[in-house]
Amino acid sequence: MSYVDEVIEQVIRQNPNEPEFHQAVREVLNSIRPVVDANEEAYRRDALLERIVNPERQIKFRVPWVDDKGQVHVNTGYRVQFNSALGPYKGGIRLHPSVNLGIIKFLGFEQVFKNSLTGLPIGGGKGGSDFDPKGKSDREIMAFCQSFMNELFRHIGADTDVPAGDIGTGAREIGYMFGQYKKLKNVYEGVLTGKGLSYGGSLVRTEATGYGLLYIVEEMFKCHGDTIEGKTAVVSGAGNVAIFAIEKAHQLGAKVLTCSDSTGWVYDPDGIDLEALKEIKLVKRERLTEYTKYRPNAEYHEGKGVWSVKADIALPCATQNELDLNDAKMLVANGVIAVAEGANMPSTAEAVEYFIANGVKFLPGKAANAGGVATSALEMSQNSGRLQWSFEEVDSKLKNIMRNIYHNIDNAAKKYGYEGNYVVGANIAGFEKVVEAMNAQGIV
Ligand code: NDP
Repeated sequence: MSYVDEVIEQVIRQNPNEPEFHQAVREVLNSIRPVVDANEEAYRRDALLERIVNPERQIKFRVPWVDDKGQVHVNTGYRVQFNSALGPYKGGIRLHPSVNLGIIKFLGFEQVFKNSLTGLPIGGGKGGSDFDPKGKSDREIMAFCQSFMNELFRHIGADTDVPAGDIGTGAREIGYMFGQYKKLKNVYEGVLTGKGLSYGGSLVRTEATGYGLLYIVEEMFKCHGDTIEGKTAVVSGAGNVAIFAIEKAHQLGAKVLTCSDSTGWVYDPDGIDLEALKEIKLVKRERLTEYTKYRPNAEYHEGKGVWSVKADIALPCATQNELDLNDAKMLVANGVIAVAEGANMPSTAEAVEYFIANGVKFLPGKAANAGGVATSALEMSQNSGRLQWSFEEVDSKLKNIMRNIYHNIDNAAKKYGYEGNYVVGANIAGFEKVVEAMNAQGIV
């Protein structure tokens, strides 16, 4: 049995009931086979893959908090510090009822390679809780965030581990967590990113993942003699990533026809009205059912359906495994040219295979959504230097980072004989840098 297959088997055996983690490990290890095969003896001797798939540290803790009626609730908190070869652990905090250790491990594992691809000095980690922020009052959110930080603070720090936002964790939650960290440690440092602008946040961080997604798509189109202008796009999600992906897509001259949340989806033949969407989701925190009140020509449908709409570009920006083989078949039958993942692992393995086999230009999340963490790293730099860069300065750095990521993954794919396969390219380019740093630092 090959070394890669042995390690995949071992991961499944040692981490039962963690299907998302198995899926992420399988996807990465399968696509780095050419590198592993070329170095098998040394990697086996150094147990390199075993070290890559085992987090350096995983922390699980109790998060008790009191609701507005005086009732006590207990959630579970997690922080997985996956790999610090390249820098302090860096990765978001997800607050969603579906969170469990396997989900956090899959996200942390992906984060290691994504952070490597940015070219910035950040290791990989991820955290979260099964707490559901939906329907909670501001005071309840604060109570949860403070309790979460009452344990997390002892494990993180500006040079140790720097968490950020993710599903369910936006500027409000980061603010409460930052306040509690400062209270407990009596240190004012850049321990979290995604902070408000008045207390150390970076301009462009809010927009970064969505904007970065469009910047990398733009570069890919440019290198193929094409442009985003005049194209139609379908987007899923209606959160941070989706909203700013739609904004940048419109700025670049594309028309976005859809968005969605966990209850339904919207089709707007005239192009999504961004102001209405921001009002519904960012200001009023309402469901998408409200959208047709602003746009009577649009349709609202319950359930899932974004991928059935004909478009040139598909941008999944909601959550993992939201685009399966059937969806991929519909998109291909409707002539999709490019798919770029704003979310983490939104496409199933079968869907990805189908896109690649059918000549769709497919940009995997760890490259395509790296703009968020890259800008978080820029926030860390500004905090260390006690500086604040202008919007234009950060945006232009983000654009350069996304362009570099595209060329890196394109070159890595070509180097190993997989031209145009950006999944292989991203995994190999991310992996090689982490391995070089791990080898230099010895067995630790
Ligand atoms: P948000 O919480 O802001 O938005 C998530 C969106 O996806 C919401 O519209 C939500 O709908 C929908 N959604 C979430 N879970 C599900 C589900 N199980 N089924 C259907 N829809 C769902 O999160 P973000 O926009 O920040 O994150 C979206 C994705 O992008 C995630 O995969 C995240 O890991 C990834 N990502 C985020 C980055 C960032 O900077 N924020 C950086 C890189 C990746 P509803 O509100 O109804 O739940």
